[in-house]
Amino acid sequence: MSYTKGLQEVGEGLYAYLQPEGGWGWSNAGLVADGERTLLIDTLYDRALTEQMLRAMRAAVPAAASIDTLVNTHANGDHCYGNELVGGARILASAATAAEMPELPPAAMAALVEQAPQMGELGRFFLDCFGAFDFRGIELKLPEETFSGELALRVGDLELKLIEVGPAHTRGDTLVFVPERRVLFSGDILFNGAHPIVWAGPASNWIAACDRIIAMDPEVIVPGHGPLAGLDAVRELKAYFEYLYAESRTRHERGMSALEAARSLALERWADWGEHERLVVNIASIYRELEEDPEPANALLAFQQMAELSRRAE
Ligand SMILES: [Zn+2]
Repeated sequence: MSYTKGLQEVGEGLYAYLQPEGGWGWSNAGLVADGERTLLIDTLYDRALTEQMLRAMRAAVPAAASIDTLVNTHANGDHCYGNELVGGARILASAATAAEMPELPPAAMAALVEQAPQMGELGRFFLDCFGAFDFRGIELKLPEETFSGELALRVGDLELKLIEVGPAHTRGDTLVFVPERRVLFSGDILFNGAHPIVWAGPASNWIAACDRIIAMDPEVIVPGHGPLAGLDAVRELKAYFEYLYAESRTRHERGMSALEAARSLALERWADWGEHERLVVNIASIYRELEEDPEPANALLAFQQMAELSRRAE
């Protein structure tokens, strides 16, 4: 299985749409097709990218000309801002995801990109992450159907399971599993080859989600970002969070800030993972858990911390 941009079959009637290199905003999506029935897993960050993806899907799978169901795995814009282009589909997400989605509308991202040149170091970092996308004029189409916990679905004769494992990356993270084919579309519960980012947390829920995936025993995982993966990537992610818990605890006891902790951490076998700056947000989340503060990450503060950490890393 290669890591090239575009659509590839990952099982009979199952497709991954990959966007290398998988960094900020460069998300993957999935397609499930059986006969005339189709289900899309996530849209992309802007209209042009989503249109390009839908064209590739229609070329490979004629039934994808009309998508019956769209599942959004979570509320981040790189997985739902293209929703309006999937006309006629019923849009389905966990209730927690549907509630979170309107909190950061595309117009707010467009305004931030526009203001970024006047925002100093933070603005530069923000443009490094998001400057490649066009958020202008996007109308965010929200899910109209929701579920909580688990939901069994059928696409033609194929059975699908939607499994809510959030709050972890976001409040309502959902896995889409096709048991018969042992293929899992993980959304951003797996960033393959890059640091995850704990927006909602707690990270302990993310560890539980890893255990859940390991128990499901998928053969192929289509991650939210990065190349196709197997269970090894999930075991690495679980070990990463366990390592962060252990290392954060001792640094928290010594009174180090999350930024100091991130700078002092030897990342060992995770040292070559992308988006290293997310480390500070993940440590800050564990700190809040240790302090019994249930608040999710503050996005502005998180981006300030990441801008600072990435500057020091250069
Ligand atoms: Zn994402």
